[in-house]
Amino acid sequence: MTDADLIAAMIARAEAAIAAHAEELTALDQAVGDGDHGLNMARGFKALAEAAPEIVALPFGAALQKAGMTLVMKVGGASGPLYGSALMAMGKAATNAPRDAASAAALLAAGIAAIKARGKSDVGAKTMLDALAPVEAALAAGGGAAEARAAAAAGLEATRAMRATKGRAAFLGERSIGHLDPGARSSALLVDVVCDVAEGL
Ligand code: ADP
Ligand code: MG
Repeated sequence: MTDADLIAAMIARAEAAIAAHAEELTALDQAVGDGDHGLNMARGFKALAEAAPEIVALPFGAALQKAGMTLVMKVGGASGPLYGSALMAMGKAATNAPRDAASAAALLAAGIAAIKARGKSDVGAKTMLDALAPVEAALAAGGGAAEARAAAAAGLEATRAMRATKGRAAFLGERSIGHLDPGARSSALLVDVVCDVAEGL
């Protein structure tokens, strides 16, 4: 699979997965935020799909950067700039190394660092980082798609017991406990998409 095919497949599948789960993401955000996460994500990934012909014509790193800029520009809400910054950082960190689990771990590390910097946050604050950081750890430890999926699912589930200290959910304080984080759910969906594409290689 060429880089262009890889990115085209990821955009198409991500748009479909986000659209299929938009109501679920919105319901999760109604519990701990303002109920717009499904709409924000659906709008962003629709914009990505529309820009896909331009994006896939670019070299791998530039394509990730353009995808990130598209999300930053099209998504209101915290999640667009956070996912967008992650993709831009991943694009800058991209090399010509084989598109395998080890290089995915390196890219994800760059994306996570960008989310932490932009969000002034870290793992344990009940955010998307709690789904993504365990995936990076699993890949860095030599895991593949199955381990990555399991890590995202476990990280998402772990957000249920957490008290939010970042984002809108932090306004709820103790009352944020008992709910899954919406951004951790969208991150787990996106990890599944990347794994689906990787397993199809
Ligand atoms: P908004 O909070 O502006 O309504 P969304 O509803 O689209 O934006 O996204 C909310 C998600 O963004 C949260 O569930 C959380 O995962 C993530 N998030 C919010 N603030 C931060 C932050 N400072 N650092 C990391 N992730 C964050
Ligand atoms: Mg919201």
